[in-house]
Amino acid sequence: MNNTAHVPFMDLVTPHARLAEDLSKVFEEVLRTGMFVGGPMVEGFERDFARFCGTRHCVGVASGTDALRFALIASGVRKGHTVLTVPNTFIATTEAITQAGAAPDFVDIDEQTYNMDSEKLLRYLEKHCRVDARTGRAVNKKTGRPVTAVIPVHLYGQTADMDSILDISQRYNLTVIEDACQAHGAEYFSAKGGRWRRAGSMGRIAAFSFYPGKNLGALGEGGGVTTDDDEIAVKIRMLRDHGQSQKYVHEFEGYNGRLDALQAGLLGVKLKHLPQWNAKRRENALRYNELLSGIEGVIVPYEPGYSRGVYHLYVVVVTERDALREYLTTNGLSTGLHYPVPLHLQKAYSRLGYKNGAFPVAEKTAKGLLSLPMYPELTEDQQEKVAEKLSEFMTSKESAMTGTS
Ligand SMILES: *Cc1c(COP(=O)(O)O)cnc(C)c1O
Repeated sequence: MNNTAHVPFMDLVTPHARLAEDLSKVFEEVLRTGMFVGGPMVEGFERDFARFCGTRHCVGVASGTDALRFALIASGVRKGHTVLTVPNTFIATTEAITQAGAAPDFVDIDEQTYNMDSEKLLRYLEKHCRVDARTGRAVNKKTGRPVTAVIPVHLYGQTADMDSILDISQRYNLTVIEDACQAHGAEYFSAKGGRWRRAGSMGRIAAFSFYPGKNLGALGEGGGVTTDDDEIAVKIRMLRDHGQSQKYVHEFEGYNGRLDALQAGLLGVKLKHLPQWNAKRRENALRYNELLSGIEGVIVPYEPGYSRGVYHLYVVVVTERDALREYLTTNGLSTGLHYPVPLHLQKAYSRLGYKNGAFPVAEKTAKGLLSLPMYPELTEDQQEKVAEKLSEFMTSKESAMTGTS
């Protein structure tokens, strides 16, 4: 590959071109049968994805945001409750909390994994809450609101430390809802259970997104809820379909939040390739680690012993991020920022009253993080070019600073 070629941030064309024949067959089948909503394609994908995650149920919904919102509502989160999550996630996580009627609140992240710091979760519950003797629930001392659920986000495709989070949540009677929207197939070694567990199978409920850029993406919008709980699964099925238990029998008001049959069929084709795509992402991550580890001022992703991540994103933390990003862009290398402004500092959450300094680890990480190109089709040459330009910038900056250039 020549050295001036552009390296895109992701590639949504190549994998679909390779599967064009199988994907077209799904479309033809949908055309032939006219089964656009519900039916065997949806049921088939739900069965396959539940098996993939190791759960009893998967319910296909219209997006990851719907999956989160339905999971919260089905688990009993109501108006007046508080739900905890992290400040460094996509806003969909907290939008779903608000839309379920609750208020989001935040727990800072771990310095190395960028996922929820379980010690800070415990500290929040011990310091800021009292336990209501009647309900057994944690109540925030300042707001008087019961804290009823927690959403750990498996950010960048790496699971949060679920044993600790589950343990603390059990003690404080919190429902655990995994935001697995970036973590299809990610694994966590549960020391407690003595086995590897898949993302989406550890909390009471989990939410997946099948947005096109995710590790498993539809050719449009899509989402899924996984759970082992039969009752929750039934509730989610009703929530996605106007609260219907049967046609025109509405147990409660729900939503129009179903997964299209066409998307389910297309997802079914792609799911077969997911293990191999995830393996390629891991391989690429290892190669990046080797290429970048020696460079001063670059922190590569940390994978704890309990984690086998699926690298939805490969995120480094660097000094002078914005200048580096510009340098890479000038050299034809596309990068991303996930996410540049933590949610507690967004205008949308000014009502929560948080100031700079409230969640120092999330804030510091946000200033340095940079997502490098990452996808199964990324080549060794492309990765070497990224590493070369990154190294070039970091060393020139260093020599400029020490005046030895
Ligand atoms: C993508 C994403 C969502 C939302 O999923 P949509 O399908 O876009 O609604 C929620 N949480 C996280 C962490 C995500 O990455």
